[in-house]
Amino acid sequence: MDVRNKTLMVTKYCIKNEFTMCPFDEKHNQSKLPEPLYLVDRKNKYKLEFHCAECEMHIINT
Ligand SMILES: [Zn+2]
Repeated sequence: MDVRNKTLMVTKYCIKNEFTMCPFDEKHNQSKLPEPLYLVDRKNKYKLEFHCAECEMHIINT
């Protein structure tokens, strides 16, 4: 089964919100994260996708 580019997880934990960079937060600061962001563990690399209208973060298998 090809699992590449599939959404593995949808989380309500938004890193941008954590760093007050969420564009939907009126108090957000103007600095930008270098995108795309990746989450790396020993075996895999996952891309993080932000859906800040709902402030969701999608973890994509790459
Ligand atoms: Zn957000």
